[in-house]
Amino acid sequence: MPTEVALELERAVSHRRTFAIISHPDAGKTTLTEKLLLYGGAIHLAGAVKSRRAERHATSDWMKLEQERGISVTSSVMQFEYDGFAVNLLDTPGHEDFSEDTYRTLVAADSAVMLLDNRKGVEERTRQLFEVCKKRRTPIFTFVNKCDRVGEDSLKLLSDVEADLGIDCHPITWPIFHGNAFVGVYDRRLDQVHLFGKDEHHGATRAIAQRLPLHSADTRARVGDEPYAQLLHDIELLDAAGHPFDRDAVMRGELSPVFFGSALTNFGVEPFLREFLELAPPPLPRESTTGIIEPTNPSFTGFVFKIQANMDPRHRDRIAFVRICSGRFVAGLEVTQVRTGKKVRLSAPQQFMARERTAVEEAWPGDVIGVIDRGNLRIGDTLAEDGNPEFTGIPRFPPEHFARVVLIDPMKRKQLDAGLRQLTEEGAAQVFFTSPTEVSGPTPLIGAVGMLQFDVMLHRLEHEYGVRCRLEKIAGRYPRWVTGPKDAIERVGRERGRNILYDAFGAPLILFEDSWGLRWALERETSVKFHDSAP
Ligand code: GDP
Repeated sequence: MPTEVALELERAVSHRRTFAIISHPDAGKTTLTEKLLLYGGAIHLAGAVKSRRAERHATSDWMKLEQERGISVTSSVMQFEYDGFAVNLLDTPGHEDFSEDTYRTLVAADSAVMLLDNRKGVEERTRQLFEVCKKRRTPIFTFVNKCDRVGEDSLKLLSDVEADLGIDCHPITWPIFHGNAFVGVYDRRLDQVHLFGKDEHHGATRAIAQRLPLHSADTRARVGDEPYAQLLHDIELLDAAGHPFDRDAVMRGELSPVFFGSALTNFGVEPFLREFLELAPPPLPRESTTGIIEPTNPSFTGFVFKIQANMDPRHRDRIAFVRICSGRFVAGLEVTQVRTGKKVRLSAPQQFMARERTAVEEAWPGDVIGVIDRGNLRIGDTLAEDGNPEFTGIPRFPPEHFARVVLIDPMKRKQLDAGLRQLTEEGAAQVFFTSPTEVSGPTPLIGAVGMLQFDVMLHRLEHEYGVRCRLEKIAGRYPRWVTGPKDAIERVGRERGRNILYDAFGAPLILFEDSWGLRWALERETSVKFHDSAP
């Protein structure tokens, strides 16, 4: 690689940030995303992501479903620039479209922003997504949202987060309230007070902020005596009793830098974005079967983390989303699909800018490109310019919903098997069986993380494979893969009317009826190991 390209690669890597937002529905992810795009200059008046919000509720209407998927393709990755950084925000589907894709997206991100509602703190979905990040030691930044309305006491909120998730918190910005009104934040790294002024567009334009030194009579006068005294008191407490800032601990995912703000009014969004981009890691080295691959390695590598099928049966094309891990990508590059050894030319790749797809000529580590696929690529596939490294697989995540597939025309079993195989490879859902030897037996089951995946499966089986099915849901939202002595697995698995299922590789998992039943088994059956992703 010529020196100037090597230098460009190094620069591109050091200025790239690829992250995802993890949150529970309604914490404000759509709103914050809009505002980040607004600050990034990708849209002038925030509101472009809204169409998605408006359409999210009617899921049984197929036209709607297609529209929604169309929109989610274009907003799967949002790229914008801010302060010299090239930022890739990977969308994590939430609400009804919550799915394995949501988890897999986290594997493609280098850091995560955990968005919390200031009244609710950590909620169930946040916790699930956090666990995936924690396992991967992904650096996590916290944004406490909705500070424009009275919420939980800030100190209490953070100590709850620490206790709940087992992560240390270090506030970088701290909220300033005037009575109940959110008037500013103090930035501990810059030692500056940001006082906000109301914009005239109800949050549609950037917030106006004045930056003031903390220790000044003028600042005290502007903030007000009482809020100022409270602020000094809080800072003293944080400095004395809080966790000190430790960059290495942030990089290991053990310490979360925390920011306070309001996505709705934009207050605190700008200080968050600036500090976050500075502190968040650039594209990180990734482990492969041939050793660690540095992003600045000149040879292109990447992996498929998501495949989006076209809902229109006349267009079977799918888009495979490839996260670039190393090297410079140029349109037309020939790479090897390492799993099969086949050569693939990446000739019509696309990139994503806010809601628009554009043809991409060049891309760098941390970027995501969309590659048209005719059914050859699979989730987890590595694409490499040279050699045959494979990135260590994307884990299989435990479904939350299970259903038995019932064929309406029993003669269509072959087509059903073909369809299920294809859809499983694509990662649209997982297939299970009720006995380890029953892989072609009468009753396959499908498992999904989100309910919408079931609707999509039925629709696609009918329209792409000509198989009409119905689903019988089965109970058990707490699946665990199990290893250990067979008789013990049988005992736990048959207690209290539970089900034992076998995945496509024959590995058993038990469906627990509730978290209590699971805990009981965990405590008593010490010879059995319970895994929350496939062993
Ligand atoms: P999502 O489900 O996480 O994408 O959440 P949305 O962005 O759709 O927001 C859910 C609701 O919370 C909407 O009614 C938003 O207007 C509201 N919301 C989002 N951010 C804020 C905020 O900073 N303050 C207040 N008061 N409401 C907010």
